[in-house]
Amino acid sequence: TTTTKPPPLPSPLRFSKFFQSNMRILVTGGAGFIGSHLVDRLMENEKNEVIVADNFFTGSKDNLRKWIGHPRFELIRHDVTEQLLIEVDQIYHLACPASPIFYKYNPVKTIKTNVIGTLNMLGLAKRVGARILLTSTSEVYGDPLVHPQPESYWGNVNPIGVRSCYDEGKRVAETLMFDYHRQHGIEIRIARIFNTYGPRMNIDDGRVVSNFIAQALRGEPLTVQVPGTQTRSFCYVSDMVDGLIRLMEGENTGPINLGNPGEFTMLELAETVKELINPAVEIKTVENTPDDPRQRKPDITKAKELLRWEPKVKLRDGLPLMEEDFRLRLGVPKKN
Ligand code: NAD
Ligand code: UDP
Ligand code: UDP
Repeated sequence: TTTTKPPPLPSPLRFSKFFQSNMRILVTGGAGFIGSHLVDRLMENEKNEVIVADNFFTGSKDNLRKWIGHPRFELIRHDVTEQLLIEVDQIYHLACPASPIFYKYNPVKTIKTNVIGTLNMLGLAKRVGARILLTSTSEVYGDPLVHPQPESYWGNVNPIGVRSCYDEGKRVAETLMFDYHRQHGIEIRIARIFNTYGPRMNIDDGRVVSNFIAQALRGEPLTVQVPGTQTRSFCYVSDMVDGLIRLMEGENTGPINLGNPGEFTMLELAETVKELINPAVEIKTVENTPDDPRQRKPDITKAKELLRWEPKVKLRDGLPLMEEDFRLRLGVPKKN
């Protein structure tokens, strides 16, 4: 007689994967700008259960209002610098203030969030065998001496400046990701995100697109920081979310640049916002902050080849979508 052996018992922590049931996904920083759009997209898939962990420093419950109470959704008030014990299959690790005025507000906390926060999420990934994606930043290239920036460029970063808590913090976070990958076999993904804009950005968070749109709607002068010839490349948030999900689901660890290669000077951006939103508004030049990168544009060859991804939304098409959201929140109706 032959006895058929039962299949081995799955680790309880990998239960959901074993039964091919729901994928349980943690999004840290999910109450923020990019995180909440990512949650919207993940929730569209009925096989996904989404858990958001956020301390609401720059994010808000309002961004997740439509999911609160949904059976596949859970919101935890949690600071990633503290230990988190939950069971998940994937971790999108976004928690970190992204706007200079917020990350400079408490720089020591920003460092802790980047270093201890990422260490904790890697410890969690190791314990439960989850795949983890870090949202790093184009700031790891500092004030770049290579243009456009490919992933192979090591950057030109001031280690002791006022931006260092953010850019050096993200550089250590990337190092931790690769050390956990090499030392413990953790499945990692690293996205280097370039300037992203869209609905739900904090109105007064000091970033250039949100500043200009809010100023144009309030009829205030657009504040171009000197010299005005510095450049940035702006990616609409739906394109960014698409890139993050492709990176997570694909086979490449990265780092991979995600951004829109369309490059504009800040003066050009101001002119465009003025033309599209309020032609009556004035453009004035104001002081800049230290260590402001003079130029920035992603080389997205890797994303195109490895993820089959490139942005679809042009700046001129994305700005009006953001304008609509800002009008609602500022209570400025459209004249026509
Ligand atoms: P955001 O400030 O809107 O979102 C960050 C979220 O993280 C907020 O909800 C905030 O409350 C939360 N958070 C901050 N510190 C935390 C902590 N210690 N514990 C738990 N939650 C915490 O910013 P965003 O624009 O949505 O950026 C999301 C991620 O993308 C960040 O990691 C940022 O560095 C990265 N990124 C963004 C851009 C961009 O242009 N928006 C560019 C490069 C990289
Ligand atoms: N950690 C966590 N959740 C977990 C497992 C670990 O937050 O489910 C944290 C833990 O507090 C630790 C960090 O992740 O500070 C790194 O964990 P790891 O096991 O890699 O290192 P160790 O605990 O041995 O220092
Ligand atoms: N900037 C500007 N006016 C503003 C805010 C920012 O001209 O009201 C400039 C700033 O000097 C920088 C660029 O816009 O050169 C992008 O700044 P932001 O803070 O949006 O992003 P980051 O510097 O992180 O790329």
